[in-house]
Amino acid sequence: MSILLTGGLGYIGSHTAVELLSAGYDVVVVDNLSNSDLSVKDRIAQIVSSTRKIGEDNFKVYVGDVRDENLLNKVFSQNKIDAVVHFAGLKAVGESTKKPIEYYDNNLISTLKLLEVMRKFNVKNFVFSSSATVYGQAKSMPIYEDFPVGATNPYGRTKLFIEEILKDLYAADNSFNIAILRYFNPIGAHDSGLIGEDPNGIPNNLFPYISRVATGKLDCLSIFGNDYNTPDGTGVRDYIHVVDLAKGHLCAIKKLEQNCGLQIYNLGTGKGYSVLDIVNAYNKVCGGKVKYKFAPRRPGDIDICYASPEKAEKELGWHAERDLENMCKTGYNFECKKQK
Ligand code: NAD
Ligand code: UDP
Repeated sequence: MSILLTGGLGYIGSHTAVELLSAGYDVVVVDNLSNSDLSVKDRIAQIVSSTRKIGEDNFKVYVGDVRDENLLNKVFSQNKIDAVVHFAGLKAVGESTKKPIEYYDNNLISTLKLLEVMRKFNVKNFVFSSSATVYGQAKSMPIYEDFPVGATNPYGRTKLFIEEILKDLYAADNSFNIAILRYFNPIGAHDSGLIGEDPNGIPNNLFPYISRVATGKLDCLSIFGNDYNTPDGTGVRDYIHVVDLAKGHLCAIKKLEQNCGLQIYNLGTGKGYSVLDIVNAYNKVCGGKVKYKFAPRRPGDIDICYASPEKAEKELGWHAERDLENMCKTGYNFECKKQK
């Protein structure tokens, strides 16, 4: 079976490519390299080569934009695609408030073009990378899939709009099988240290920021707010190891093969950790190098957010296995290797 990963050289896409290839799937990637590097292709191949011999027929990368219909036509004519996982998109909340047009253009148009070409080639299995951000500040924890949604920024709205587009598409053509995966906070890296999260410039997200402080690339972490309604006052999130998250995609693809219709799944651990919990856990693996200070709240942040992963466990047979220590160890290992 051949799976198309849009954005497959990015953080979550690259880990998913490794899991799919290792499980015997063939993988085709379309990525415009706006937030990734072509060298990731070789690193994915290197990781997989220890368990499977792969050639050009098993793993192909097209460098280009998902909004480019001609490119998509080429990809679907040259490969017999069985299912698509749509990772490609812009994902920075803060940036989306400054560049809403770019966010709506990239995230919405890429999805529409992709669905149009899929329909043309009669490819009807689709996995979409959505986000816990669609829940906003939920009224109670844990968050279940049927909780009300409502995004507070353009990035989140692109995810919500795409979810609505997918529901309309399914209502019009129920031969589609669609898994909407709402990711919580993916962190950590592959055990090899060859792939991980490597944002350009100063990281917006907590974990890559901590990794850079731990390796001396940045001085000090600012913890945004210590007066939240949480046990230690700092924000609480559901951090999930990226390899666990990647494995969730395999389970979702298997589910699509059973003609599941449209389904929404939370992919999280069900546990909430505060910013201070993350700093303390990271300091245990790096020898206390993460310095921090408290700073004002970041606008738009919520107190607390963690998933109920029950539906994914029950229907996909998936649950997260790795603990916070492993997330920090693998993240630190990746960040240290990057220096060389
Ligand atoms: P990423 O930026 O590392 O990966 C996205 C990849 O898509 C990059 O390689 C980028 O070059 C590519 N891309 C972007 N626009 C493209 C386009 N128009 N055409 C072709 N390629 C394009 O991000 P990620 O963390 O791997 O996230 C993957 C998906 O998961 C995104 O849709 C994101 O919104 C979603 N998501 C991520 C998180 C997170 O915390 N990382 C949380 C929830 C949801
Ligand atoms: N955070 C922080 N300092 C940073 C980045 C993030 O204190 O430099 C906090 C943020 O306020 C939130 C948590 O870390 O409570 C997770 O933020 P992140 O941006 O990683 O993910 P989000 O849940 O906002 O998508």
